[in-house]
Amino acid sequence: MSDDAIPAPSLPLTGGCGCGAVRFEIDEPLVGAAYCHCTRCQHRSGTGFQASARAAPGSVRLTAGEEHLRAWSPGGLDKVFCALCGSAVLARQAGSGEIEIVRMAAIDGDPGIRPSARQFTAYAAPWEPIPDDGLPRHPERLPA
Ligand SMILES: [Zn+2]
Ligand SMILES: [Zn+2]
Repeated sequence: MSDDAIPAPSLPLTGGCGCGAVRFEIDEPLVGAAYCHCTRCQHRSGTGFQASARAAPGSVRLTAGEEHLRAWSPGGLDKVFCALCGSAVLARQAGSGEIEIVRMAAIDGDPGIRPSARQFTAYAAPWEPIPDDGLPRHPERLPA
């Protein structure tokens, strides 16, 4: 799908976890999105893969429930979720706390962006075929 087919979202984007305790706002358009098939995403989400969006630096603000956030830190970015409901919400730098990634399912409404690639397809779940959607497939991490 080309970008001009996607309605421009009104900013800020809003979102949160499943139980509503954690809420956030995103002040700038998201800069990219992809599906991740890595085993960490499989475990985090309980699904075959998960869609995540990259936020512009400094554009994500937690507006409620920051005290309920917990992180899984297996390496790379901290994978941050709501301790009350278990929803995967975002990912941030372990040291600086900079929020780099927002889980697309946590965003309210249309985020104004679509996943444009699939990464870590070498680790895709054997029980879920990778959709034949024409998106580029990267066996390992997406090239920067
Ligand atoms: Zn929650
Ligand atoms: Zn992943």
